Amino acid sequence: MVGLDLRKREVKIIGAACAIGSPHAGCANGPDVLHSLGIVNALYSSDRRIEWTNTLYAERTEPSKRTQNIDTDAAISALASFSERLASEVSAVVAQSQLALIIGGDHSCAIGTWRGVAQTVGKPVGLIWIDAHLDSHTEITSPSGALHGMPLACLLGHGLIALSQGKASLLPQHVCVVGARSFEAEEAVLLMGLGVRVFGMDEIQRRGLDSVMAEALTIAQNGTAGFGVSIDLDVIDPRDAPAVGTPAAGGLRRAQLVQSLAMLARQDNILALEIAEYNPHLDVENRSADCVRDLLHALLVPRQARVAVIELEKRYGASNYAPLPVVLSKSNGVYVKDEYGKQYIDMMSAYSAISVGHAHPRILQVLYDQAHRLTVTSRAFYNDRLPLLLQRLCEVTGFDRALPMNTGMEAVETALKAARKWAYKVKGVVPDQAEIIVCEGNFHGRSITIVGFSSEAQYRDGFGPYAPGFTRIAYGDAAALERAITPNTAAFLVEPVQGEAGIIVPPRGYLAQCAHICREHNVLLICDEIQTGLGRTGKMLACEHENVKPDAITLGKALGGGVLPVSAFLARDAVMQVFTPGDHGSTFGGNPLGAAVALEALNVIIEENLVQRSAELGAYLLDQLRAIHSPLIRDVRGLGLFVGVEVDTKKISARRLCEKLLAHGVLSKDTHETVLRFAPPLIITHAELDWALDRVRAVFAEAERELRHVA
Ligand code: PLP
Repeated sequence: MVGLDLRKREVKIIGAACAIGSPHAGCANGPDVLHSLGIVNALYSSDRRIEWTNTLYAERTEPSKRTQNIDTDAAISALASFSERLASEVSAVVAQSQLALIIGGDHSCAIGTWRGVAQTVGKPVGLIWIDAHLDSHTEITSPSGALHGMPLACLLGHGLIALSQGKASLLPQHVCVVGARSFEAEEAVLLMGLGVRVFGMDEIQRRGLDSVMAEALTIAQNGTAGFGVSIDLDVIDPRDAPAVGTPAAGGLRRAQLVQSLAMLARQDNILALEIAEYNPHLDVENRSADCVRDLLHALLVPRQARVAVIELEKRYGASNYAPLPVVLSKSNGVYVKDEYGKQYIDMMSAYSAISVGHAHPRILQVLYDQAHRLTVTSRAFYNDRLPLLLQRLCEVTGFDRALPMNTGMEAVETALKAARKWAYKVKGVVPDQAEIIVCEGNFHGRSITIVGFSSEAQYRDGFGPYAPGFTRIAYGDAAALERAITPNTAAFLVEPVQGEAGIIVPPRGYLAQCAHICREHNVLLICDEIQTGLGRTGKMLACEHENVKPDAITLGKALGGGVLPVSAFLARDAVMQVFTPGDHGSTFGGNPLGAAVALEALNVIIEENLVQRSAELGAYLLDQLRAIHSPLIRDVRGLGLFVGVEVDTKKISARRLCEKLLAHGVLSKDTHETVLRFAPPLIITHAELDWALDRVRAVFAEAERELRHVA
């Protein structure tokens, strides 16, 4: 046995298609059914190869025919010979330092599995037996005579000699049982007499499963060459795993076990794993098969299993989001990985917050260096990073002054305050009468003021009374702006391209006309460039597409370099100068850590030509998407790498397409159930974009096929 980095060993799966001893013949089909359900494919791991190598079939698989309460001699010898074959198959895997995973079948397969492991290792082996039952009858104590009540006794050298071969494969001091709750006294007497530690459900409830599992691990590892885990699915409560031969109420919940197994998966001296008692004929909606999949994920891919994490969030979080069912845990460049190591191309980039890509080395270096120097000071003092960011922001955008905040919403709130104060102090509007014009379909954040002027019923519902002083007009209609202006109008707040509304690009010339109207009426033009700014649409600022110079803008998202929330309100002098000390502020706004990162983010965007890249690749992306010609697509629109595909919701929802893209390794997000959003990191290459486009085409083709099928 050699095993250096055992966690990366190849996994060889062996099916043990045997129902001898079980009351259910169908249990022998368990391995084949699990195989056909694709549990191996679902076990994708970037770190190790997982392969289903073989399935052994027992000579006879029908349920036990018993005479005088004992399985017949024929059944015993069939199980003995099956165990021999399985032991040698397992032995071959373990001898090559590979990890053996045995999938039953009746739990009596354990006799072959653990004998095979013990014989090969040649030193004591530990075993954590996770089961509702003790499986420790001998032919004398068993009331039913069923062989499936005996495997653990056999492994400890007791019971039928034909099965145990008259010797112990395992030493009792290295064996423990977890989750027992249904057994006969004689079994407990045998195990306790031998010194096997049994952790019943009462103890688990008292101490918690993690604590019990930690002690079980110590027992299995102390003085052994390594250990194994044998799971009988019936340890899980029948509500979660109904498809077992002998269900016992009051078991472990699936998520609880999954989470606890993750601790075992982190050990590097696991020798073999076994999951038994899957009865496909009893499986309603594949619930038990899903359990097997989750247990295997937890055991083989040493990360927190998806179910556990999602359930944790659902249990402790608020349900103000409905995320797609993927748990991300790693990222680099344009790629992210889920906790199983499956890779996805990020075509969403956190609503443009990841414009410079994930984990950009320059950003990470600055983050690290600055974190060691100075992080947060509050604005009660000067710090040596913020002035450099302010200067660079003004140089890059052409504004006179910048005011740093954290989230986009705060930058917008800053803009609203500046506009009102400017109206009173500079324009001379009557106190408390200032009006700000906004657009239908706007999205500027989620503060109580901002949602108050949203046209989206859900964003407003339950949050009234709303702040007065806002007028909403149609987006894309410059005449509507002119009509809405009054002597009290302070500002027009507008997104150059509406993102959340579904990537709505206004008619050509719209923004330029608005700028002209605002100038004529002494109204501030404030462009919310939180999403469209910093290269997203193929210009540094989206308003440059129309050569418009607003009075003020807001920036956010990409400004944080994909690692921190950093936003800013930028304006010409006359607007910004309305603020005096104490008027406005934020504890974290302008902190040196955020400032250093934002400065580097600006540098990366400029030095890596990301604006140009967004323009070129954005045009290519639009062309390619427009060429798809699917009856599911109603419109393709966008500017730069900010593209939306509107789908025909009578045929399919955008959410469904996102789920399909997810399955194909592409992350995207639906907007308003009608639009698929494609806004990858601006560092994406042509080849990466092509890869994503291939998947998008495949998903539309697949969805069309399904539609035809249904029709
Ligand atoms: N403004 C625009 C145009 C946005 O797209 C968003 C967010 O999507 C915001 C403001 C709000 O930004 P945050 O979520 O950082 O508060």
